[in-house]
Amino acid sequence: MFRCFIMKMTRHDASRRLCTRVRFAPSPTGFLHLGGLRTALYNYLFAKQHGGTFILRLEDTDRTRLVPGAAEAIEDMLEWAGIPPDESSRRGGEYGPYVQSERLQLYSQAASTLLQTGHAYYCFCSNQRLDLLKKEAQRNGHVPRYDNRCRHLHPEQIQEKLARGVPHVIRFKLDSGDEPFQDLIFGWSRHEVAAVEGDPIVMKADGFPTYHLANVVDDHYMKVSHVLRGSEWLISTSKHMQLFRALGWTPPAYAHLPLLLNRDGSKLSKRQQDIFIQSFKEQGVLPETLLDIVTHAGSGFNSNRIGRRLDELIKEFNISKITTHSALLDLDKLGDFNRVHLQHRIEDEEKCAVLVDELCQFVLQTHGLQIGDRSVLEAQYIQRVLQLRKGHICSVSELLGPIYSYLWLRPEVCRQQLEDVTSEAANIITAVIQLVRDQKSLMSTEVLNSELKLISSKLKKTKYSNVMRVLRLALSAQQQGPSVAEMMVSLGEQEVCARLQNALQR
Ligand code: GLU
Repeated sequence: MFRCFIMKMTRHDASRRLCTRVRFAPSPTGFLHLGGLRTALYNYLFAKQHGGTFILRLEDTDRTRLVPGAAEAIEDMLEWAGIPPDESSRRGGEYGPYVQSERLQLYSQAASTLLQTGHAYYCFCSNQRLDLLKKEAQRNGHVPRYDNRCRHLHPEQIQEKLARGVPHVIRFKLDSGDEPFQDLIFGWSRHEVAAVEGDPIVMKADGFPTYHLANVVDDHYMKVSHVLRGSEWLISTSKHMQLFRALGWTPPAYAHLPLLLNRDGSKLSKRQQDIFIQSFKEQGVLPETLLDIVTHAGSGFNSNRIGRRLDELIKEFNISKITTHSALLDLDKLGDFNRVHLQHRIEDEEKCAVLVDELCQFVLQTHGLQIGDRSVLEAQYIQRVLQLRKGHICSVSELLGPIYSYLWLRPEVCRQQLEDVTSEAANIITAVIQLVRDQKSLMSTEVLNSELKLISSKLKKTKYSNVMRVLRLALSAQQQGPSVAEMMVSLGEQEVCARLQNALQR
């Protein structure tokens, strides 16, 4: 019998090690922000790198702090970010339910086991008494802690109180001999919990478990092999290890991720509206940009570079490279990151087709009825615009700004405006119309640039910069924007000729 137990344990431990199972366990008390995304991402990278499973578990046992819609929104954002869980309440899985409020039976079973084995006890202390303890500690300059009074109740006293229906909680008996554990990031750690804390509550009066019990029970039953979570939980881990041992279970390996801070070292605050993933999404930030910037902020890779995509993050992630230093997030670089990732999307045929549709919708919404020439809504045209602007724009919606309105609307410019720049305006326009007609198609910006230089060199009375100003005005009614050659290539031969002629005739 004993041998059989040992064999079972060995097999269990081996399988635990063999299959990597990690979890992201947010409380649905708010929406997903950058800190949460970073934790989820590192779990995802670790799982995928080891051919493992990424679980989303919702820790909703604190009923007073639940935010309606948060649970759904967290999973929506993970999906949007491209790191969906393999197991969750939405996706299902063998180890569900994946929401703690649906697993109450497991927690009360565990609490009963702890009571039976003498690792836990009923506590009948009233809130008034606990408040008094707290006030007294504060008055004496001590950190408030429960004095473990109910540890010492006699079994008859307990039975009598239970029979009378006195409200109670269940507390875990902290052991003073904490075993050290090796955190994969912080190294050997040990926190003498019993020396600084009173016995913690594991079951609340409302029949719900506290975080500590539910977390341990779920990590066990969900066969979690590695816990990657924020370093704020490091000091709770000794308590969790004690709970695992008391329940006769093997704890998972732990890796506590250093804090994610703003560039100036201040804490990311949930009051900063701009740290929520939903708000980045609404601003047109690409999900791969967020994943990249969040990993760029901290350690965990041999080197840092802008533009890593998810498959590269998975390949290059190295948990042993995570240091204990806080990760500093530089959101001022968000635009640079997005520019690079937008370029990647434009260079990918399938993704570019999606961008084309998106941009077409935006153009319709922004310029709608003003659009004279409907061919600007054709996929081929929009695609050309994107190909020419990639590497310059940080988001597709930038192309709706005034500088780019020439792409969608014909400008209104009159001859006088051109002649105010140079008396050679008409000659310039005529020469360029000729060039465009001769060349038939506008081949490339490079070829066009040298042709424009040639035209300019033949003009006696004006300089190259004025040639450009005249053309820019005639084509876009703007003083700045992309290069004239790029404007011409994106607009195409017919449209360039029409605009140049119009400008002369007005
Ligand atoms: N519910 C906890 C949180 O929101 C989970 C901590 C853990 O991963 O153990 O941070």
